Amino acid sequence: MTILLEVSYFLAMISFIVGLKFLSSPQFAKRGNIIAGLGMTLAIVATVIHAFYGGPVTINLILIIVAILLGTVLGKRMSDKAEMTKMPQLVSYFNAMGGGCALLLGIIEGQQLAHGSTEVDRTAAVILMTAMMIGATSFSGSIVAYLKLSGKLKDIRTPLVSISSRVLLLAMIVLPFLVSFDIVHLTLIQEIAVLGVLATVYGLVFVFPIGGADMPVVISLLNSLTGVATALAGIMFHNLLMISGGIFVGSAGVLLTLLMCKAMNRSLWNVLAGNFKGASIGSQSSEVEMEIKRTSIGELATNLAFANKVAIIPGYGLAVAQAQHLCTQLEQVLESKGIDVDYIIHPVAGRMPGHMNVLLAEADVHYDKLKEMEEVNDQMSSYDISIVIGANDVVNPAAENDSSSPIYGMPIIKAYDSRQVVVIKRGMSKGYAGVENHLFGEDNCTLLFADAKDALSGIIGELKTVSF
Ligand code: NAP
Repeated sequence: MTILLEVSYFLAMISFIVGLKFLSSPQFAKRGNIIAGLGMTLAIVATVIHAFYGGPVTINLILIIVAILLGTVLGKRMSDKAEMTKMPQLVSYFNAMGGGCALLLGIIEGQQLAHGSTEVDRTAAVILMTAMMIGATSFSGSIVAYLKLSGKLKDIRTPLVSISSRVLLLAMIVLPFLVSFDIVHLTLIQEIAVLGVLATVYGLVFVFPIGGADMPVVISLLNSLTGVATALAGIMFHNLLMISGGIFVGSAGVLLTLLMCKAMNRSLWNVLAGNFKGASIGSQSSEVEMEIKRTSIGELATNLAFANKVAIIPGYGLAVAQAQHLCTQLEQVLESKGIDVDYIIHPVAGRMPGHMNVLLAEADVHYDKLKEMEEVNDQMSSYDISIVIGANDVVNPAAENDSSSPIYGMPIIKAYDSRQVVVIKRGMSKGYAGVENHLFGEDNCTLLFADAKDALSGIIGELKTVSF
């Protein structure tokens, strides 16, 4: 039986690698998810069967199976119900569960270790406590992230929070050394209890000051911490699958975190120090007197009818309006009239990495039509019209020319370079960064004040009536 278990773990490991490979392309991402999911299912089923054959069926085994079934049903329901714009909340909720698991495992295994023999294996204890501390930090930090994203908790930035964050981190690192060198006398169970409490409180104060717009970065970091905790738990249990799975999650999370920081031109330290103050900083950045020029659905449809090449620049508002299917319809109508259409995607448009890619893939937009920002930024003048739909920060020239702006230095889509820019949004609300958008005052820019869905269906209707 053991050999079968090992083989299924090996197959699962391969499925994770293949799954990850597929996840790097929007076209095959779904397939990648399914492959990795099947591998994980195989590993779980093999583990349960192995436990059945390994000895008498205990109440624990039955509880484990009930928990797996309950978790599967609840997880599926939550994922099905979650709106795309609420995805970061869902991820932080799942993170909290993973971190909580590592915390509980640490407490239970710590007790076993302490009672198992008179001489405690200190190396094993330190690995276990590290996994538990990382898990506890991820657990409480993810709960705070969840509450902030749901708008139930505001950023808390006080000197007390930042000092306690540093003191707690230092205490967590130093305490195991003090115990190892007999400077502080604690039993293993006491040590685990103290470290567990310190790490849980640390998770809270670590996330309290981080600004709302930086939450996706923190969630990705907490996700990678959960992976590291799993890998460490795998070392404890000599479980290769937990080690490899944990390493995949840990490293993918770190890479994603760094990529997001790069796309926003922020250092990770800057994010973690809670230096993104959004609207409050925005008000310090130079307020520009702008003359706003309005356009109408009819005027935009007429201009589109005479264009040769059109860019669609989607943003968070498109996701809010759920107007992605209308985007595809607009593309089809324009193409039926011989007009070239490209979608230009900013890496941090929306509220999570790949948000726009997922949204447009859902509406069957062909992958060839999706252009990365860097790919087309120096050819923006070749577009007759750029239609910015529910995007704001990612097209804001303040990122290039206003050094006092909090988004200064963030790479943007140079929509202002196209011959005409039309921004579809409901009013003059600012974007996530809470700053004025200098694009709106440019000579070649007009605003169409409407919900993205209403505007797009209006334009499509008008275009269908235009014949030329
Ligand atoms: P944005 O700057 O947040 O702007 C979205 C705009 O959509 C708003 O100005 C809003 O204006 C408009 N809007 C909202 N609902 C709408 C509707 N129903 N119809 C039409 N328009 C609507 O969005 P973005 O340009 O996509 O930029 C993303 C921001 O999130 C960036 O600051 C980025 O740094 C941040 N962020 C993203 C990630 C990520 O992973 N994607 C991670 C961290 C931070 P009105 O209310 O006036 O309509």
